[in-house]
Amino acid sequence: MAFENLTERLSKAMKNLTGRGRVSEEDLRATMREIRLALLEADVNYDTVKKFVANVREKASGADILEGLNPAQQVVKIVNDELTTTMGEEAAPLNKSPKIPTIIMMAGLQGAGKTTTVAKLAFKLKKEENARPLLIAADVYRPAAIDQLEILGRDLEIPVFQLGTAVNPREIVRQGLAKAAENKNDYVFIDTAGRLQIDDVLMQELKDVAEIAHPDEILLTVDAMTGQNAAETAKGFSAALDLTGVVLTKLDGDTRGGAALSIRDVTGKPIKFVGQGEKPTDLDVFYPDRMASRILG
Ligand code: GDP
Repeated sequence: MAFENLTERLSKAMKNLTGRGRVSEEDLRATMREIRLALLEADVNYDTVKKFVANVREKASGADILEGLNPAQQVVKIVNDELTTTMGEEAAPLNKSPKIPTIIMMAGLQGAGKTTTVAKLAFKLKKEENARPLLIAADVYRPAAIDQLEILGRDLEIPVFQLGTAVNPREIVRQGLAKAAENKNDYVFIDTAGRLQIDDVLMQELKDVAEIAHPDEILLTVDAMTGQNAAETAKGFSAALDLTGVVLTKLDGDTRGGAALSIRDVTGKPIKFVGQGEKPTDLDVFYPDRMASRILG
């Protein structure tokens, strides 16, 4: 289960306060120490943890809270609110173009779940809005990526545009967009190449694709299981590309929670969706408040 360690640690930290009519500054300090350790162990970014703890401490200390009714409950609420704020407060909806098609460019490191996410998101829109998406296969370095998209498209009955691996991504995107205009597709997804790590060649290619496509969304997929590295990756991509949001994948396998808690703070970009499994239906809108409740157990 996602976040189980963090949930357990936080609940233990806050148990120290429950049942007490009065909570002293010293009790609060001890609890904050535990919360800080729980977050660091969950692999949350160090600066994010520092800010988090300072904000909670500031809101919780003082006579109103500590000597008021149910101080423990109030501290839990403050922690809950701060978790929500750290993760972005509100759900961030997909940017849609006023005229069709809405163009969604996907970026991410190899293996992060980019191709799977393209299919999941296109399928979600097809189901929920009766949308007619077109998927453009622009990862020309991994022939398997094109095949993978073709297979997913066939299974989900979503058309895929591809020109194999011999044509450059800019040309594929140009022709793919022309095809979408001809077919009046309302959404276009561009599956771009990934690499094992960020490099200049990759970034230049993504910039070129973005320049041609003028996407309404540039969504970065990052793997939640990489913890705060996911946030660092997002920061790296964000420096080169005008990212509009992040899709956090593999949350089903993430027992720590560091990525979900760090990304928004480290990059300033909202997490828009979370992948919670390998099936096409395993993609959900990211709600910071619900995630905060889930983390608190
Ligand atoms: P890409 O290289 O970024 O295009 O990555 P892929 O889309 O090929 O995904 C890499 C692997 O991660 C595949 O085996 C996917 O099934 C798996 N994957 C993607 N998203 C999720 C997710 O949310 N949960 C789980 N458990 N696996 C996922």
